[in-house]
Amino acid sequence: MASGLLLHETRRLERMAARFAPTPLRVDGGHLSEGDRKALAKLIEAGRVIDGIFLEQIWSGNQRLRHEIEADNSDLGKARQRLFRVSKGPWSTLDGQAAFLPGVPERRPLGSDFYPADMTRPEFEHWASTLPELEEELARGFFTVIRRDAEARELKIVPYSAAYEVGLRRAAALLRDAAALTANASLRHFLLTRAAAFLDDDYFASDLAWMEMDAPIDITIGPYETYNDELFGYKASFEAYVCLTDEEETEKVKDFSRRLQEVEDHLPIDPAYRNPRLGASTPIRVVNEVLAAGDGNHGVQAAAFNLPNDERVIQRKGSKKVMLKNVQHAKFDTVLIPISKRVLPAEARADLSFHWFFTHILAHELSHGIGPHEIRVNGRKTSVRLELKDAYSALEEAKADITALFMLQYFFDNGTLPGGKASEKKLYNTFLASAFRTLRFGIEEAHAKGMAVQLNYLSDRGAFVRRTDDTFEVNFDKIKPAVTDLTRDILTIEAHGDYAAANRMLSELGVIRPEVAQTLARLDDIPVDIEPLFVSADEAAPRHP
Ligand code: ZN
Repeated sequence: MASGLLLHETRRLERMAARFAPTPLRVDGGHLSEGDRKALAKLIEAGRVIDGIFLEQIWSGNQRLRHEIEADNSDLGKARQRLFRVSKGPWSTLDGQAAFLPGVPERRPLGSDFYPADMTRPEFEHWASTLPELEEELARGFFTVIRRDAEARELKIVPYSAAYEVGLRRAAALLRDAAALTANASLRHFLLTRAAAFLDDDYFASDLAWMEMDAPIDITIGPYETYNDELFGYKASFEAYVCLTDEEETEKVKDFSRRLQEVEDHLPIDPAYRNPRLGASTPIRVVNEVLAAGDGNHGVQAAAFNLPNDERVIQRKGSKKVMLKNVQHAKFDTVLIPISKRVLPAEARADLSFHWFFTHILAHELSHGIGPHEIRVNGRKTSVRLELKDAYSALEEAKADITALFMLQYFFDNGTLPGGKASEKKLYNTFLASAFRTLRFGIEEAHAKGMAVQLNYLSDRGAFVRRTDDTFEVNFDKIKPAVTDLTRDILTIEAHGDYAAANRMLSELGVIRPEVAQTLARLDDIPVDIEPLFVSADEAAPRHP
């Protein structure tokens, strides 16, 4: 490349990478026992092994390519290294998986490396339909890859334990080492059963063990999400989250959970639509992330996850939600604070509060569990999800956000939470700034569309006011009744299963109005997300060069 072109290409890659702001993640493990501290170091090493397996899952050329670009210490080489690290391969997750390096397919292969590169959907379907039932199940299963027989060119099934044998044996050994070091029985049980699953591909028992784990070290490690199989959505990608439990926040969630029925009983809807007996809700654990690896450290970082995906486990034990508090804090510092400086008036900026940002997210998750779910329409038993169809996701996200505000206000008013003007100002100003963060996900995304509904509704009610300097402020006399009314409107649409009303609300309010678009345009240079730097992991388990 000519030097002008080289410079141009270097700047282009640097701009792409700048959308992810490097952010150190620190977690204090001072309270851990000696055994747990040693176990933690083993689990961090296991997480790093998972990183290598994930690179192989995405593309067979990934490891070779990584070595190649790591040898290039020019400015261009460094820009490539950084973008490769963030993307876990030569394709950009924020740009429709388009290649940013030369000499690779223009777009990430739809089937990643889960299937032969030259296999088509019809070929797979035809072949799978000829297999005996159990084998077909394996072919479409989470934990196998499809390969081509070298001689006969026939498709064949290879279990993960064989496809990634070297890495999985190493990871299993590290989990067993950690199991021998911890004194916590529930953690030990998960680690031993998961180590066995790495070698025999049967994840059921260890998924159950993961649901029951209650320990100072909170680990999620294995093949889980299927998004990287864009061909069929069958194959699970390896990821790891090595975390420490946040006892205080986990207790707070339990405390809120115990009061959910009381909130349900006070929802601002026709009492006939209230549920007199809420079922068991999804358990929520709050943790701080020491290391994320593989699919879990790839493009935009997860702020929370809900696992497992295996229906057999969900039927037996439900699923568990894990909230990554320090990751959310990093996003708050790196993305929300800069946004607030541009969208809130100067006197409101001091109200921006991570505590209320995070408490609102917790309340949002719990709010999904209250309000109408199983409903009757014209005497017919059905569900909100079925009746609202394509309008459901956006309306349900709006419902969770606004009902969360209603819930926290209810807790303020009833003395469950320390209220008063100061807390209320922090909650609503933080929510207002956060609305603009969410709108940047793109209006077709369910959370963003749901947020547009709220921002426009509350603005029409005079609860959010746009000032002449292009900032937005909260009217504290109007916000509380407006929150109650929007909660009532959305919950009533859900209770009626009223598809037409849902669509009316989304098409009228689920839009970016010109004045909001102007404000959003002023946020363009603020990072989209963080690139976590795992400083505590590197201290606990130094890397060997
Ligand atoms: Zn939600």
